[in-house]
Amino acid sequence: MKYISTRGQAPELTFEEAMLTGLARDGGLYVPESWPQLSHRQIAEFAGKSYEEVAFEVMKPFIGDTFTDEEFFGIIDRAYSSFDHVARCPLVQLDSNHFLLELFHGPTLAFKDVAMQLIGQMFEVALKRRGARVTIVGATSGDTGSAAIEAFKGLEAVDVFIMFPHGRVSEVQRRQMTTPSESNVHALAVDGDFDTCQALLKDMFNDFEFRDRVKLAGVNSINWARVLAQVVYYFTSAVSLGAPHRKVSFTVPTGNFGDIFAGYVAKRMGLPIDRLVTATNQNDILHRTVQTGKHIKKGVFPSISPSMDIQVSSNFERLVFDLYDRESSAVRQQFEALKDEGGFVLSQGARSRLSDEFDSGRCSESETRATVKKIVGMTNEVLCPHSATAVKVASEQPPDPDVPMISLATAHPAKFPAAVEAACGIHPPLPPRMADLFDRDERQTRVAGDLQAIEAIIRERTCA
Ligand SMILES: *Cc1c(COP(=O)(O)O)cnc(C)c1O
Repeated sequence: MKYISTRGQAPELTFEEAMLTGLARDGGLYVPESWPQLSHRQIAEFAGKSYEEVAFEVMKPFIGDTFTDEEFFGIIDRAYSSFDHVARCPLVQLDSNHFLLELFHGPTLAFKDVAMQLIGQMFEVALKRRGARVTIVGATSGDTGSAAIEAFKGLEAVDVFIMFPHGRVSEVQRRQMTTPSESNVHALAVDGDFDTCQALLKDMFNDFEFRDRVKLAGVNSINWARVLAQVVYYFTSAVSLGAPHRKVSFTVPTGNFGDIFAGYVAKRMGLPIDRLVTATNQNDILHRTVQTGKHIKKGVFPSISPSMDIQVSSNFERLVFDLYDRESSAVRQQFEALKDEGGFVLSQGARSRLSDEFDSGRCSESETRATVKKIVGMTNEVLCPHSATAVKVASEQPPDPDVPMISLATAHPAKFPAAVEAACGIHPPLPPRMADLFDRDERQTRVAGDLQAIEAIIRERTCA
């Protein structure tokens, strides 16, 4: 399988190259040159298989011969052995025809572990084979950084540096980044906010001398391998409710559009998905886009579901590429307008394709809290605020007795204890394996929000 850029002006890459590169050099995102198909029969055979077995079958067509079958099985096994639920991504029933897909049983209690754990193992195997080492640098507002640290800690071929805004992440989030003791983990508390960290990351990637010297690699949400890992749980959950013999729908709490785009990929591959519903919080650019065809930025308004506080959803570009029949000149035009003029309007054709595939809804702050409270009352399930936005939006969709609805639960409630307690009066405890998080020793380096200072630290620690 070859990978092409949505902007059409970067070289075609193999899976391994696309994974190690991340962003394309023309500013676009890598996508497979075509969507592999799984037959009705192949999907039916997933019934009763383990998560790992389905993961192998679903991802295999995308990775081609990057890994031998034996290597790839090993990668998948090691990746998900860190999950504390044997089903990996279990399904829980909320109501007669509404189900919750729990994606938070990984080491950092958020769905980003599903992709990050796999990517860590894939990097390690690919780099060892090349005899190479890379430096992973990431910027985080909380969840991504800890997921990357958990995925790469202790690996031989990788150093991982995570920049987070000093004093602006929750204590659970900070401790998840500062307590791993492995020597290849470097938590950098940067003076500034999340935007400072992101700008520093961008500058670092544009400093080619530095980039080559430390062999910089990125694992942010536009990395194709991350999207791919997420396609798997659409298959496992749908099959457990009767697919491919009947259709299912999904509602997905959305920020960068990576998770819901993975659902779209599953559908393109042949999974009979009826509706894909994008759920936003008050930062509702995607809801507005689905409803009006206008993709226009506004400011970011901090919410109790902070991982969805985004105004530019980077993965949306992958969908726009398909909405315009994979015509890269149209994508270039739209995303240049987004950058220069703050938005774009989809053509009639693109807009009608979008509404053929997607529905959407928005969940306000008070609705989020009310939903957490209501669901505890109905089921004893304690939702995190992100998951609550999906459950709320799902419950507003026209009911169809023939089509079950699956809402994605993207984080464990204990990751957002203050918001959850304020909503429903329950203080969600950390799972037993993390109960000592507050007793562990922390290790972090405080740095000025200054490119030279941070590059110097990275060079020194990697001996580059
Ligand atoms: C990252 C994240 C999201 C948003 O996922 P996208 O793939 O960016 O749309 C939702 N919920 C939680 C808890 C997250 O960490």
